[in-house]
Amino acid sequence: MRILIAEDDPVLADGLMRSLRQADYAVDCVAAGDQAEHVLLAQTYDLVILDLGLPRLDGFEVLRRLRHRGSKVPVLVLTARDAVDDRVRGLDLGADDYLTKPFDLPELEARVRALIRRGQSGGGSTLSHGALKLDTAGRRATLKGVSLDLSARELGVLEVLMHRSGRVVNKEQLAEQLYGWDEEVGANAIEVYVHRLRKKLEPAGVTIRTIRGLGYLLDKPEHE
Ligand code: CA
Repeated sequence: MRILIAEDDPVLADGLMRSLRQADYAVDCVAAGDQAEHVLLAQTYDLVILDLGLPRLDGFEVLRRLRHRGSKVPVLVLTARDAVDDRVRGLDLGADDYLTKPFDLPELEARVRALIRRGQSGGGSTLSHGALKLDTAGRRATLKGVSLDLSARELGVLEVLMHRSGRVVNKEQLAEQLYGWDEEVGANAIEVYVHRLRKKLEPAGVTIRTIRGLGYLLDKPEHE
């Protein structure tokens, strides 16, 4: 799950980024409206957290252009206290929800979870791999109907592997799904997630193969 934060207050942006990364989201951060526009043209996000008062291009205009291009990505706008007109205008332009500053981080995290769920129920789907199912909207995997206990990042790895079942996925593709741009990805981090996932899946006969020098491959199920 990838989130873009567009916020020019560095303290607030940093707090948001830390708290969302702790919840295992991949988070990118920009501090100006033109930068937000630029990255939104280049990268797909599951959620945008958009401050309305941004330098160079304000949040309203970023939002207006985003919706004009037909993007349905969920947008949570951040507004100043008492700025009722801003809230209304933001919602009119196609924002999905708003939060008034200052807000508590747990409140923000709850809104983020709800918006991501809602965003995905439109485009969400169930991936299948034999008896293994992954509900991309509910963020839940089951094996023969029994829930698997997977962390958000293990689920992220599994989702990429299932999307490309039978084909090799390299570590860069996995890292791109799991981390923000400026996050240090430890050399072994991906291997650790794959290792944990493998331990949870192998007893059920689902095999993640390591293709030396290339990446990983989820073996095709023997029978559907
Ligand atoms: Ca601002």
